[in-house]
Amino acid sequence: MPNLSIHNLKMLIICSIIKKTSRKKGVCIFILKKKIKHYTKEVLKMLNVVAFGAIFIIAIVLVKYKPVYKVTISGEEVGYVTNKMELEEKIQKEILESKEANVAYTKLNCEPEYAFKFVSGLEETNEEEVFMAIKEQAVTTYVMYAVTLNDETKAYVDSMEEAQTMVDELKQEYDQDLELDIAISQTYTQNIEELNVLDSIEVAKTSFDETLETMVEEKKEKEERTVNGIYLAVQPISGTITSRYASISRLRSGAHTGLDIAAPKGTPIKVVTSGTVTFSGWNGAYGKCIKVSHGNGVETWYAHCSKLYVEAGDEVEAGEVIGAVGTTGNSTGNHLHLEIRIDGEPVNPQNYLYR
Ligand SMILES: [Zn+2]
Repeated sequence: MPNLSIHNLKMLIICSIIKKTSRKKGVCIFILKKKIKHYTKEVLKMLNVVAFGAIFIIAIVLVKYKPVYKVTISGEEVGYVTNKMELEEKIQKEILESKEANVAYTKLNCEPEYAFKFVSGLEETNEEEVFMAIKEQAVTTYVMYAVTLNDETKAYVDSMEEAQTMVDELKQEYDQDLELDIAISQTYTQNIEELNVLDSIEVAKTSFDETLETMVEEKKEKEERTVNGIYLAVQPISGTITSRYASISRLRSGAHTGLDIAAPKGTPIKVVTSGTVTFSGWNGAYGKCIKVSHGNGVETWYAHCSKLYVEAGDEVEAGEVIGAVGTTGNSTGNHLHLEIRIDGEPVNPQNYLYR
């Protein structure tokens, strides 16, 4: 062995060791494979048994029981449904997205809760009852349009268009006479019955008639009772007219410059409107007399008084009691002689008061 060096010998020994070891390893792998095969078979067998058992149990459960959703509202059971999705769609469509007139939005006071469970196959589900119970939880907010006159709501109508038409028509009918403060405001409520929404514009308009007619009358009356821009708000006394303006009597030298209204002695005399007392005292044939200046050259005189409660220079408010009815001066009985003067010239009081 000329080539068998020490190095080669070493290599030979290492190779033989490796050979021996790999033979041993091969035997081990073979045993392991066999064992795995055996255990796999056992596991599969077991799994088969388990699967069969499970299917058997499910089959029995399905025959005897059925899957449902138990529905509860605020902890209280309301029933069972088979199809939760179908119920939720119905709630959405018929309750929450209701197309009822005037509905602004609908909310559920209390949301339903669902629990999946099995119940006896004989148990009946009650979809309709459950739906109704959920519907009872619905709170609807309605929207409507209030038409107001001088900040007071006169009518409710369904739509903005109706409200606007009404306002336009009313303004056209009345605006020549009145400065109307008519406005529209959107109103939300949960109690639509309370608001009495009127179906037709015509009906809704009638709720304005009374107020508007009163306003027209009041305006007319105010215009009639206005002297040179001064509104005579108050009638001084109530009583019987005994002598009219410009009447001729042998008791007087000339025509009557005022209006006589008979009333018991002591009847309070109210000043027609606010002003300044320019005279209060004895005035010849007028007896005890009060003169009040109201501006714009308008003056009122109250004569034949029994009592004078004001003094020259006093500021008086409309309706304030300034004297009492009497029969002082050139008078034949208890009465108030009322004069209205513009720039010193007497005018007929009945053009403005006691018409
Ligand atoms: Zn008189």
